[in-house]
Amino acid sequence: MKFELLQLEEDRIRFLLSGVTAAFANGIRRACMSEVPVLAIDEISIYDNTSVLFDEQVGLRLGEVPLKAEDLGIFTQPEECQCGGTGCPGCRVDFMLSSEGPGTVYSSDIQFTDSSVKPAFDKIPIVVLGEGEKLVIEGYATKHVGKEHSKWQAGTLCGYKNQPSLEISESCDGCGKCVEVCPRNIFAVEGGRAKTSNTLECSLCKLCVEACEPGAIKLSPVMDSFVVSIESTGNMPVKDLVAKAAEEIRKRAEDLDAKLAELA
Ligand code: SF4
Ligand code: SF4
Ligand SMILES: [Zn+2]
Repeated sequence: MKFELLQLEEDRIRFLLSGVTAAFANGIRRACMSEVPVLAIDEISIYDNTSVLFDEQVGLRLGEVPLKAEDLGIFTQPEECQCGGTGCPGCRVDFMLSSEGPGTVYSSDIQFTDSSVKPAFDKIPIVVLGEGEKLVIEGYATKHVGKEHSKWQAGTLCGYKNQPSLEISESCDGCGKCVEVCPRNIFAVEGGRAKTSNTLECSLCKLCVEACEPGAIKLSPVMDSFVVSIESTGNMPVKDLVAKAAEEIRKRAEDLDAKLAELA
């Protein structure tokens, strides 16, 4: 397997994985979305809500606020906690939200009792309060994985595509139709012939192949090479997310190996 980093920012990464199957690339994608545990608001008690939103809507909005922890490793998933899942500082983080209008309630108004935990972004609007309207809520966040509920999803936009292979044959007459139709600006005509650049951006839409009358464009997916794009919700740096996803896959492979060994 070969890994080539194409782009890395705090919350998005793009890399080329070669010498692997589609199932493996898809495994990384799925693990980023559903197997990496993060914190999210789980239970709330509403003491006052005179806003325009129903209690359920406020609850849904709070649940989808991505949360960041300085050290996520100090929290345990409730079902694995020594408290047996009844709730303790090891598996839940309490918060309070108290606001009175007029004004917008933002994610930054969610105050956790553990100062190492906070919303990943300060300006996520929860609700706009009119004059005298109030929102008073207590609750707690727990650590789980995205396959249990989307609010615990660590990766959001996670996808992959085959690496495109593009070749221009001698029969190209330089008509420029491929330049006109390509939505990704892959082609340019130079010296009476089409040239390609930045081919990893190609979406394999085949518009160029259909437009090329001489049939000079040979386009095909490289079957064992994939451009993988992953974006985190902001609850952890995306490079940590991909590393943790790979770790989850490794653990499962080891579990399977051990179970097969027992059967042998
Ligand atoms: S459409 Fe075909 S023939 Fe025309 S420039 Fe592009 S590759 Fe060449
Ligand atoms: S397949 Fe689509 S994106 Fe790729 S080069 Fe052709 S027109 Fe452009
Ligand atoms: Zn506990």
